[in-house]
Amino acid sequence: MSDPDRRIWLDGELVPWGEATVHILSHSMARGSLVFDYMSVHDTERGQALFRVDDHVDRFLTSCELVGLPLRYDRPTLISACVEAARNNPGARVVKLNAFLPSVEVDVVPVDDHVAVAAAAYDPWQDVSARKATPPPRAAKTVRLWLEKETRQRRPDIMHPHAKVAANYASPMVAKWRARQRGYDEVLLVDEQGMLAEGPTTNFFLVDGEGTLRTPAEQSVLLGVTRRSIIELAQAQGRKVVEERIAPDALWVASEAFLTGTSAGVWPIASIDDRPIGGECPGPVGAALGSRFREVTAGEVPEFAHWLTYVAEVG
Ligand code: PMP
Repeated sequence: MSDPDRRIWLDGELVPWGEATVHILSHSMARGSLVFDYMSVHDTERGQALFRVDDHVDRFLTSCELVGLPLRYDRPTLISACVEAARNNPGARVVKLNAFLPSVEVDVVPVDDHVAVAAAAYDPWQDVSARKATPPPRAAKTVRLWLEKETRQRRPDIMHPHAKVAANYASPMVAKWRARQRGYDEVLLVDEQGMLAEGPTTNFFLVDGEGTLRTPAEQSVLLGVTRRSIIELAQAQGRKVVEERIAPDALWVASEAFLTGTSAGVWPIASIDDRPIGGECPGPVGAALGSRFREVTAGEVPEFAHWLTYVAEVG
C-alpha cells in the first residue's frame, strides 16, 4: 500500500492520507501541544497484531491528562481506533495515535479547546519521508552513543517526562542533532541531577558485573512499553532487575548496555563517547532478551500472548 491509498482515522472517520492536515497556525503546531503515542504492528501466524495497544492507550490518556487536553474519547474507543486504522491499512508497521488542537489560536491557552484525535497506521520506512533519512534502528546492528552533558533534559518541573507531548522532544532534538553532526548515531540524556535518563525515543539499560539488569528509575524517563516488557521478560527468566538512579560512572564498568523502544526493539550499545562498553557487542544478555522479545511480538510465546491484539479478530 502506498501513502496515497492509506486512510487515517480522524475523529471517527477514515480520511485519505493527504487530507489529514492542520493549519500552519494551529495550536498544536505553534505551541507543541500535540500528544501522541506510537505502537508497533507485527506479522504473526494469526495475521497482523498490535503490540500492547492497551498499555499505549493508557500512556496516551496519562499524557493528555498531564498536558490538560480535554479528550472526548474513552479508552475502548481509542483502542478500537488503533485497531481500525491498522485493519484499513494493510502492511502497516506502526500506529501513531495523536491528540491535537487544530484550531488557529493567538494565545497559549486555546479559545477553541476541541481536541481532535487521529490514528495513523503506516510503514514509517516506506510511506513517510523518513525513508530519505537514516535507516531504521533495527537495520543498524549496534549504536554509537554520545552522552549529552551540556543540557539536562528531563525536568519534571517544566513538563513531566511521563507526558509524550511534542514539546518534550525539542531539547532532545537539539542534542541529537548536535551528536549527529559530531558523527554519533544517538544521544543519551541525563536528568536534572546529571543522572542517566534515556535516549530521545528510547529507554536505557545496562548489565552490571553481577549480571543484574539496571535501568533508570521511573521518575526521570518516559514509561516505555518496551522497557516494561524487557523488565518482565528478564524477570520471567529469573534475572534480577533494578530500577534506580544511575550515575554516568556506572557506564564504564558495565558488562553491556542497550537501548529499548518501539522502533529500536533492543538496540545494543557499542560505545559511548567513543569508549567501548563491556566486551563483545551485542552482549549475551541483550542479545537473548532481544530475540525473546522478537519471539513474543511474533506471537510465538503463549505465556505473553495477551500482549498482542489481533487486528482481524476484534470488532
Ligand atoms: N523514551 C522516550 C522519550 C520516547 O519517546 C520513547 C518512545 N515512545 C521511549 C522512551 C520508548 O518507549 P516505547 O518502548 O514505548 O516505544
